[in-house]
Amino acid sequence: MSFPFQLGALLHEGKAKRVHATDRTDVLAVEFKDDATAFNAAKKASLAGKGVTNCRISALLFDHLARRGVPSHHLGLLQPGWVAVRPVTIVPLEVVIRNRAAGSLCRQLPVAAGSLLEPPLLDLYYKDDALGDPLLTEARLERLALVTPAERRTIEDLARRINAELQALFAGVDLDLVDFKIEFGRDSSGAILLADEISPDTCRLWNRSSSDENERILDKDRFRQDLGGVVEAYGEVLKRVEGVCPEPGFYR
Ligand code: UDP
Repeated sequence: MSFPFQLGALLHEGKAKRVHATDRTDVLAVEFKDDATAFNAAKKASLAGKGVTNCRISALLFDHLARRGVPSHHLGLLQPGWVAVRPVTIVPLEVVIRNRAAGSLCRQLPVAAGSLLEPPLLDLYYKDDALGDPLLTEARLERLALVTPAERRTIEDLARRINAELQALFAGVDLDLVDFKIEFGRDSSGAILLADEISPDTCRLWNRSSSDENERILDKDRFRQDLGGVVEAYGEVLKRVEGVCPEPGFYR
């Protein structure tokens, strides 16, 4: 493997990515893994090609958002499956935006699967696998003091803007952005940046031209529900996004 820097120590290994130090200040290298997990890692598999596909989708989406003024940790692609990012301290919040009801919302509330949520619902979860990423209430969020009121506003405003941009992008390639999860971090100056990844592992995407409720799924629900064709579905998402986005930027 050749990078424009020396690869350093493995700093962090998560469920879907490994984060490595580099000899450049303010640059980390992130490797997308083929590992797939669901139900808080109770279900696991290795899906050949998932890492490279998700990495490219995520790079295209971060570039798209950057062109629309969304600040993020993304610096550019390095090689298939690898991106360069700015170091951030992750804010332990999972920010979920829902345009249609699906997943946990339908398990927890009497809302019909697929129903439109207008305006989109924004849910904040406390990012902690050991606690099962619990849904936060206003009072719990205040009690944990994870973000200042100003940071909270920045995060929610960015999340809603990101949703509007991604919804439009996906609609243009006949995909319905049902819901997605994003994470934010603070850079060395304390600025809030979009971080982590945006991919079919973290979004629900339905093929608008398909009325079959299993066939239309082009995201991690194929893995969660044992529908098969997971990497093929992710490949279809990549193909469509590539069709409307410029080549992803490389970090040199
Ligand atoms: N999500 C995620 N990571 C998580 C939890 C959720 O990426 O740890 C994504 C999930 O893929 C979906 C959205 O966030 O696109 C909303 O997920 P939901 O709360 O419905 O939970 P789930 O049904 O995945 O348990």
